[in-house]
Amino acid sequence: MSDITPQPGIMEIKLYQGGQSQIAGQTDVLKLSSNENPFGTSDKAKEAFARSVHSLHRYPNTDHTPLRTAIAQVHGLDADRIICGAGSDEVLQFVAHCFAGPGDEVIYTEHGFSMYPILAHMVGATPVCVPERERTVDVDAVLAACTERTKIVFIANPANPTGTMIGGNEVARLAAGLPKGAILVHDGAYTEYVDGFDGGAALVDARDNVIMTRTFSKIYGLGGLRVGWGYGPKALIDVMTRVRQPFNLSDTQMATAEAAVRDVEFVERCRLENARMRAWLAESLAEMGVPSDTSTANFILARFHDAAEAEACDAFLKSQGIIVRMVAGYGLPNCLRITVGDEAACRRVAHAVRKFKEQAT
Ligand SMILES: *Cc1c(COP(=O)(O)O)cnc(C)c1O
Repeated sequence: MSDITPQPGIMEIKLYQGGQSQIAGQTDVLKLSSNENPFGTSDKAKEAFARSVHSLHRYPNTDHTPLRTAIAQVHGLDADRIICGAGSDEVLQFVAHCFAGPGDEVIYTEHGFSMYPILAHMVGATPVCVPERERTVDVDAVLAACTERTKIVFIANPANPTGTMIGGNEVARLAAGLPKGAILVHDGAYTEYVDGFDGGAALVDARDNVIMTRTFSKIYGLGGLRVGWGYGPKALIDVMTRVRQPFNLSDTQMATAEAAVRDVEFVERCRLENARMRAWLAESLAEMGVPSDTSTANFILARFHDAAEAEACDAFLKSQGIIVRMVAGYGLPNCLRITVGDEAACRRVAHAVRKFKEQAT
């Protein structure tokens, strides 16, 4: 046996399961398993990506000023309190790296995003899972689970994979009730799908213990590019900047993301179309006896009678070339998470679920 042992916590990490993207023997595959934008990426962002080819031999800008400035202008924020990462996953990792370690507790909720316990283990901290109420974050339960060892509370709002949200007053009550020295991370990966929502930015401005994370992977249609950002109190951002690698983002990533964030018209069109098709899909499935909670994001959590029916439906959808997401690993074995696609995609998946239901009766 080798004397080489990994750091505490690392071997506890269960490898992240990504959304499947292929089905053996199927060519016309419809992928609705990773909450990707069915309309792709803004043309302006694609043009910026193409232009960046001319400077690939140069090291990238290290302080991200042009991208941070663009984000700050578009969202009305302070550029000095923005930090950018390779996806919001990297920003979440900066938080864990800087503010939690062995002996500390990191809270996430029952159906919370699977990266949260992974990040806790990565830094040797103890992940603490708190029950939700009806697939929604329960602020009282989170506050009751806090101890003097609690260093980070992760919530996604809107949440993934449930699609549910808690109101601004509830988030504020959570932030105000945390023990001294604990940070609330408000993961806003789906913020742009909620009309007029600031993603928690005003709460960040009002307090010294809240960090908001955002991503270019969802409504901006840039999941493959890997860009995200965080917004927080200056003191916390300054700490996180120390662990950020100086060249964590390429100029290609930054220039493309900058063009994407400035294309507010594209984002607005995607938000409206998502809302329209989400309502249609939820209603169509409900009529077939497949209910879902009101979703505030770009997916629906379809609820079946039991795990067996959800698994059978998933298998049937695969036979029809449609990939959705099983979420048993999130404590939701009777559910399937279905990304809201474009109109043709929504019609195709609704038609397939109807065939499945008819076949079963
Ligand atoms: C998709 C998603 C993210 C985004 O991750 P990236 O690293 O930015 O691609 C973050 N949090 C939640 C809850 C998500 O669903």
